[in-house]
Amino acid sequence: MNKQENFKQRLIKYMELKGMSRYEDLIVEELKNSLGNKNFEISRDNLGSVIFHKPSKKANAPKVMIAAHMDEVGFIVRNIDKKGQLLLSAVGGIWPATVIGTKATLKTADGREFIGLFGHTSIHIMKSEEMSKAPTIMDLYADFGFKSEEDVLANGVGVGDLVYMSGETIHFADPNLIGGKAMDNRAGVTVLEYIAKNIENLDLDVDLYLVGTVQEEVGTRGAKTSVSLVDPDVAIALDTCASHDTPNTIPGNTSLFKGAALRIFDRGTMMDPKLVNYFQNVAKQNNIPAYKFVAMGGGTDAHELQFSHGGAATLTISLPQRYLHSPIGVCAISDLLAAGDLLTEFIKSFNENDWKEMQYK
Ligand SMILES: [Zn+2]
Repeated sequence: MNKQENFKQRLIKYMELKGMSRYEDLIVEELKNSLGNKNFEISRDNLGSVIFHKPSKKANAPKVMIAAHMDEVGFIVRNIDKKGQLLLSAVGGIWPATVIGTKATLKTADGREFIGLFGHTSIHIMKSEEMSKAPTIMDLYADFGFKSEEDVLANGVGVGDLVYMSGETIHFADPNLIGGKAMDNRAGVTVLEYIAKNIENLDLDVDLYLVGTVQEEVGTRGAKTSVSLVDPDVAIALDTCASHDTPNTIPGNTSLFKGAALRIFDRGTMMDPKLVNYFQNVAKQNNIPAYKFVAMGGGTDAHELQFSHGGAATLTISLPQRYLHSPIGVCAISDLLAAGDLLTEFIKSFNENDWKEMQYK
């Protein structure tokens, strides 16, 4: 299997796992199975983030943390309707218009699953004034075929159970493209695994922490707790970002097929210009496509990573994706590999002197 195909298969594996915020254990298990504990010291913090530590043999090696969030957005049952429909609250930011009419998967507290769909009013029986309005989260419900509230309860389903989007994996004619559920951020998780495999047998000049964080989608909570444990000098968030190459988006320069996107600015983080410069040089030296962009919306784990004790030099490497926070997201494998190769080369080259030069005098 070539590199692109192998990466794609791993990404599909991660996308098809269910891991809403707070419920990321299946992704942790897969990462642990894949990476093992031969080359990494593995630990978890009390919110569930998983830390793969590869110590350096050098005494003053800078601490580098690379974090990819493992959680996905979805819904939680907030109320049960008399006729057996489940009313929902969103876990993370979702525009309800993207999910109505699509397949839903209910996961109960004891792990059982039911298949249904996100319900809506048929156009034939809709009040005319509703037709031009976008549905809100208060309008949204999921239909699993239950007949009544009693029927729901008799099936062991209750308030607080999880309702997942269940977008299927899409194989386009172009083998470089892939679509699937939870692309945000299983794309980043797969890149994290790819980096780990690339460097697992090397002696590094950095003290490396590869971290799968939890609860990013509800407010970068896992980054906050894991960075306080790792306490890095240099911290990098690895996450998907909105791609502007589809109709009707506001203008922006991120796009599929252009390589790794270096996020310079968003509402939560202003990236370290010396670190950005370092990454641009690594990209140039290794012929890896990479470019800078300013995010128009959304934040990343970098928002918390920068607050390492005394502050960390921080950057977000973004993975452009179409259709964020919807049942099916689309990425180009070549962009994900560009980000993975860029981070691999960074880890291989960065050392104590580079860090000294980067520090404020
Ligand atoms: Zn994300």
